[in-house]
Amino acid sequence: MVVPPPGLRKTVIVSEQRSESGYENRLLAALPPDEAARLAPYLVEREFRAAEVVAQAGEPIEVILFPYDLVTSTVTPLPSGEVVEVGLMGAEGITGLDVLYGQNIAHTTVIVQIPGRGAVTPAADFVREIVAPAGRGHAMLLRYANTFMAMVAQVAACNAVHPADQRLARWLCMAHDRVRRERFSLTHEYVSMMLGVRRATITTSAAMLRSAGAIDYHRGNVTVLDRHALERAACSCYPVLRKLGDEAYGLAS
Ligand SMILES: [Zn+2]
Repeated sequence: MVVPPPGLRKTVIVSEQRSESGYENRLLAALPPDEAARLAPYLVEREFRAAEVVAQAGEPIEVILFPYDLVTSTVTPLPSGEVVEVGLMGAEGITGLDVLYGQNIAHTTVIVQIPGRGAVTPAADFVREIVAPAGRGHAMLLRYANTFMAMVAQVAACNAVHPADQRLARWLCMAHDRVRRERFSLTHEYVSMMLGVRRATITTSAAMLRSAGAIDYHRGNVTVLDRHALERAACSCYPVLRKLGDEAYGLAS
């Protein structure tokens, strides 16, 4: 007998057993009865075809999808044109997470990868009926979490597509933004682990940045010599990540 991984087994159980409330989506089924009753008039169960776009990065979130036995792909478009999968979702999840954080613009694109059934509700009705108002501090933290998720998606895509030297420069720019000083310690092992490349690749990439005059590197210490040169060496993800970082910083001010 083939034993599926734990996550997969859970999903299979979900699609085989309808919950007490009759909804096959875990989260929908787990809603408190009064909240489920408020949402019920706006929910439509239907078939979804493959490649149906549920949310488009940069566009308003129109609907919230509760997958039953369909599977969605969450993809991140890169400024350079590539699109990379950063996550997938089935009956365990819902799309349009951004609205939980008070944002109605999608950070990522969600498409139906495997066709099947699901329930869908207009995002505005979902927000009005389910996303209850909370304290300001709580709301702020949620917005941060949302921004962080957007960054995670961007980085995942970057790591899958962009060359190591550009990613190293991008990473150094981001680190430089946060440490707010010209010199900081960094080992080859740490950077190669983060970027998912061999140590030798990092050595080569760092040598390129050094010969371009962007950084100096000595005994585990990086010195940013020319910030503009470093930014020029970074991939096109950096401006996107910088903007998201600025958003996160702005939340607490
Ligand atoms: Zn990149």
